[in-house]
Amino acid sequence: MNVAVNKANQLVSIKQVERGLKCDCFCFECGEPVVAKKGEKNEHHFAHISNKESCNINPESILHKFAKQVIMEEKAVTLPALPSNQSSGSKVWQFTKVIAEQSVGSFRPDLVASDDHDMMFIEIAVTSFVDSDKFQSIKHHGIQTIEIDLRDLLKQEIDIPSEEARAYILNEVSNKHWIYPEPKVIAPVVELSPETATHKQTIITAQPTVEPQAPKTSFTKYRFTIMGMWVDVWAFADGGLLVKCVNYHPEIVALLKSWKNEGGGNYSQKFKSWRYNLPFSNVVFQRLQQLDTTPKA
Ligand SMILES: [Zn+2]
Repeated sequence: MNVAVNKANQLVSIKQVERGLKCDCFCFECGEPVVAKKGEKNEHHFAHISNKESCNINPESILHKFAKQVIMEEKAVTLPALPSNQSSGSKVWQFTKVIAEQSVGSFRPDLVASDDHDMMFIEIAVTSFVDSDKFQSIKHHGIQTIEIDLRDLLKQEIDIPSEEARAYILNEVSNKHWIYPEPKVIAPVVELSPETATHKQTIITAQPTVEPQAPKTSFTKYRFTIMGMWVDVWAFADGGLLVKCVNYHPEIVALLKSWKNEGGGNYSQKFKSWRYNLPFSNVVFQRLQQLDTTPKA
């Protein structure tokens, strides 16, 4: 085992501690005191004091704990602009207090961060993401909530705990997104595929006095839960569908891509979404309904 917890219940790596019993640490999994074996011969590791076999420590659990620990220590985190204020860019949010696993009504966010005036929830996502029940609860409380997706950190060869992992958790912005307030719906009609864009350009050149009008749209928004992830769908009056995987999920992305290849449509890099048109959009909608696991009210 190369990680353990110290007396303050903080995650420590074998590199950070004194050798032997002086490390004053406990097994992350079973809580038994551990010895830091830092000899010449074997790779440095923690061993149970009783000499029993090493516990199986799940990397996801370590990362989840470490992320909470880091934000609690730092009492600050860099967050993307609020959906209501997209032009402001990302910034560092400072808190006076960050508490883990504190219940707010029936809801228990990973972290509750507050300053003198405000409170926000921070959700650390490694294996599980905010689902529709949790979302309803957040919405009910009306409290700003950010979700930090740390799956990428597990795929990289970064030690946890480490300064590198700490910096990623605190400073990276692309892996953080606002759950509440909800990100604004971007009217996708303005998005044109490269072919359409060229075509439009030609028209403008041919008839310079005609101002191209963006068609007015009305749409209905749906949120599905597919493979445990949110998939947002905008159904437009023209029968077209815009499908967006709220969190990046490779399997869903592959599925949406395969449907595009099967029945046509296009992908917008800018909005990270797929658009399907009639009649295939009906097929897509039916498939999404079949895959949906949102609990029915
Ligand atoms: Zn153990």
